[in-house]
Order: sequence, then structure tokens, then C-alpha cells
Amino acid sequence: MTPELMQDNARRLEEYQFKHVQAPASGGRSAAFSRIHTPGELDLAHGRILYLEDVNVSFDGFKAINHLSLDIGVGELRCIIGPNGAGKTTMMDIITGKTKPDSGQVFFGSTIDLLRHNEPEIAQMGIGRKFQKPTVFEHLSVFDNLELALKTHKGVTASMFFKLQGEQKDRLGEVLQTIRLENEVTRQAGNLSHGQKQWLEIGMLLMQDPKLLLLDEPVAGMTDQETERTAELFLSLKGKHSLMVVEHDMGFIRQIAEIVTVLCDGAVLAQGSMDDVQQDERVIDVYLGR
Ligand code: ADP
Ligand code: MG
Repeated sequence: MTPELMQDNARRLEEYQFKHVQAPASGGRSAAFSRIHTPGELDLAHGRILYLEDVNVSFDGFKAINHLSLDIGVGELRCIIGPNGAGKTTMMDIITGKTKPDSGQVFFGSTIDLLRHNEPEIAQMGIGRKFQKPTVFEHLSVFDNLELALKTHKGVTASMFFKLQGEQKDRLGEVLQTIRLENEVTRQAGNLSHGQKQWLEIGMLLMQDPKLLLLDEPVAGMTDQETERTAELFLSLKGKHSLMVVEHDMGFIRQIAEIVTVLCDGAVLAQGSMDDVQQDERVIDVYLGR
């Protein structure tokens, strides 16, 4: 690796850790860690991993989220559909601490008030988010990408030279199989197909063993075969993890759906099985079309 590449990787790792892991850029665990005010154990006794209650957000007077209430079961794979501008991405921004609502409640399990935590803390507590565009480290191998994503609580330099412990090696092997990249371990991430890059990024989230995964339009730009494999991947993740998947690809949604929530104008318009929502006149009017 050239020094420029090293520097570039270090910078990108820092960005990545800020977004996905609480690990501070330098100075070990102290700075970011001490900001977590006794986060408490995740309490799943009521069977719900996430509760949103009467949440409201306005941007310059425009109500992007409008009295939104919704909850998700432990181990559930929840699909979210709805027209552009419905507030789907904004809802994920609220859950992950990127946007603070004007009012309402957002709880992780029944005791963790997410509105009291910032983005890195929320990632650290076990909520992983996949953005639409893949953000893997193109110059690094598949293996190195997964290794970097481990929850090390180390600084950037330490992370780059960090050696895997046995248990973590096992996890890396498992994740490689789950995302079906076990034959691409040494391949440079930049040379993977678009779909493979998306799976690698999901693998990077899985290395942190998240309780809840938020996936925003994960199959956009994928081939039919990649979409099919992604459906299988998500079905294999549910139960072990809870998932919230936003997608426009109805064939994909049909393949993975249990409960589908339809968002419109910042609130829940309809919710139920795929068949229920597909037959709902209001959903047909605002989203599915006639
Ligand atoms: P979706 O993901 O369902 O397409 P978004 O959550 O991206 O919808 O957007 C919901 C509405 O809120 C849109 O009208 C969008 O323009 C607006 N919006 C989202 N984020 C911001 C922001 N940071 N500032 C101003 N308006 C925003
Ligand atoms: Mg969106």
C-alpha cells in the first residue's frame, strides 16, 4: 500500500467508525464511551424491539413525519413501502439518531430511550444501518473490509493493525458464508459486482452483531439474480436479528414480507399482510396504482 492509500483508508475508516461504531478516532475508548449514560440492558420482555409513538418532525414548516406510531417485534422482518417523500428515510434518520424529532417517543426495547442518545451511541447499542449506496473500502480485500468492521473500540491506527481473536475469526467465517462471499475473500472490494458490494456492506454490519438492522432500498440497482439472493439472505437473518427493510421492488417485498407497513405523508396509511395492503384502496391510490 502506498502512503496515500494508507491515509485514504485511515480517513475512510474514521468516517465509517463514526457512522457505524462508537469507536473514537483516537484516544481509545474513553471519549465516546463516557458519553453513554448507563445505556442499560436491552429489555425485550414485551416482545418488541422498537417502538415509535406519535413522532413528529418538521423541516421548515413541512411535516415530514406526522404523528407516526409503529412498533416492530423481536426477530421480525418488517417491510416498509410507500411513495417517494413519504418519510421512510427520515424515519430511519430518527431511529439512528441522525435527526431529532420535534416530539414523540422512540424506544429500543422497552427501556432504552433512543432520543437520549447520539448516532454513534445508537450504533454501539446494536442498531445497524445500511444506506442505499455501498460504502465499502474499495482498495481493501473482502476479508479486510470485514475485519475493519469489527467492534474493536480501538483507534484508527490500532484498528488497521488489529489481529483477530479466535471467536472473531469464527464470526468472520460465518459472515462470509451468510453473505456468500466465501470464494471472494482475497478479492479487492472495488472489483466486486454491485450486488456483492451491497452484501459485503451488510456483512460489515453483521460483524458488529446488530440487534436491529435498517436497510434502505437494498436491492436498488441489483440484477434479478442478486435480488433473489438478497431475499434469501434477509430471510436467513430474521429471527437472529430484527430487520426493517424499505424497498420499492414489489416482487422482492412479496418474497420476504410478513407484515408490510405503508407510509404516506409521514404516517402509517395501512399495515398488514402483502395481500391486505395490495388490496387496500388507499394504498392502490397513493402508491401501487390501478
Ligand atoms: P422517502 O424516503 O419516503 O422518499 P424522505 O424521508 O426522504 O422520504 O423525505 C420525506 C420528506 O421530507 C420529503 O418531502 C423530503 O424532501 C423532506 N426532507 C427529508 N429530509 C429533509 C431535510 N433534512 N431537510 C428538509 N427536508 C427534508
Ligand atoms: Mg428514501
